[in-house]
Amino acid sequence: MADSDIERLIQLLARLPGLGPRSARRAALHLVKRREALLEPLARALADAAENIRTCSVCGNLDVRDPCAVCADPRRDDSVICVVEEVADMWALERTASFRGRYHVLGGTLSALDGVGPDDLNIPGLIARVKGGAVTEVILATNATVDGQTTAHYIAERLAGLGVKVSGLAHGVPVGGELDYLDEGTLSAALKARRPV
Ligand SMILES: [Zn+2]
Repeated sequence: MADSDIERLIQLLARLPGLGPRSARRAALHLVKRREALLEPLARALADAAENIRTCSVCGNLDVRDPCAVCADPRRDDSVICVVEEVADMWALERTASFRGRYHVLGGTLSALDGVGPDDLNIPGLIARVKGGAVTEVILATNATVDGQTTAHYIAERLAGLGVKVSGLAHGVPVGGELDYLDEGTLSAALKARRPV
């Protein structure tokens, strides 16, 4: 492998989230030293991913088929759509195995600062799905950030009058969480969302 090949590998690895130039260099050397066990299988996996993975035209998930496995699953509940910012959020909710409805991935949040408007997100697709008829509830599971909540608010307004129930995630004390360890935002949200005992 020529110097420039390694340099190119390091530069590309350094663009991954969480990897700076230093850790990219370590990763590159680690890969090159384990050519058969790691470098070649990784290269094949990357090539396969580049060729086969596509965006689901229904929900925005990433999968090797379109519609994705979640959208194509006939056992899931068509009446509930859970709206998330990113594919990673959808996968996190799937890992809990506690939601059996459908999803809709926005692809980000509204952001005046970054110039992201409603048409830059997959919001028209959501409205079309709700108007399609089978949906009775939309769960807005955007992040508890200012942009996430602004986006949820905007979508709730767009959905008003379409005859669906719109709900949001409860934000509160995590299961097993000790108050002392929570950040102020979580704690004050938990206090606001208090319920009778
Ligand atoms: Zn899908």
